[in-house]
Amino acid sequence: MDYEKMALEWEEENIDAITDDNLSVMNIMRMDEEDMLNGPGLRTVLWVSGCNHCCKECHNPETWDKNNGYLFDPIAEADFFDALSKDYISGCTFSGGDPLNESNRATIERLVKVIKSKYPTKTIWIYTGYIVQQITENAAILMHSRLQTTIEINWLKNVDVIVDGPFLCDVRKTDVEKSNDPHYRGSSNQRMIDIKKSIINGKITLWEETTYE
Ligand code: SF4
Repeated sequence: MDYEKMALEWEEENIDAITDDNLSVMNIMRMDEEDMLNGPGLRTVLWVSGCNHCCKECHNPETWDKNNGYLFDPIAEADFFDALSKDYISGCTFSGGDPLNESNRATIERLVKVIKSKYPTKTIWIYTGYIVQQITENAAILMHSRLQTTIEINWLKNVDVIVDGPFLCDVRKTDVEKSNDPHYRGSSNQRMIDIKKSIINGKITLWEETTYE
């Protein structure tokens, strides 16, 4: 693969976005090729930069600034797809930061489409500080937990599971006191939502471990 050529072509295509404040390109803090803590099975996890939820006692405040980390450029993307292509990898998880932060949405949307067309059986999980307020056949409407504003993202129907809502440290403390392991979540207020089932059922339907990986 000619990485230098790929990088130059990509830069040319994205030059407007790169020089524009409304970046549609994404920075990541790191990629974990094989992770067992952020969804079922072995998963490739992208920790993206950019989050404006400001959860108290957030464990990753360095991810809040969308300019932290490094650019998810064609070389990083090739590494990501290389990791994801392995037979024993169940799927990928986008976490952060917030993958649905405005600065990241265009890139995540594109990645979701490519992943589903290349690897239809691999599952996609997204962690977000937004709350999935309503799911209809064609759209997921997310509500910002702090600003109480909504955004509409049509492509979420291609995502398998969304873990929604902010990290609430007080809920977490109660979880710990009660030895309640929130399993794949930081605090038990966050819901693991099965997007496909929610769309079919017309209501929020939680993911069950036995559903699929
Ligand atoms: S959504 Fe996640 S990264 Fe963002 S502030 Fe909350 S805990 Fe931290």
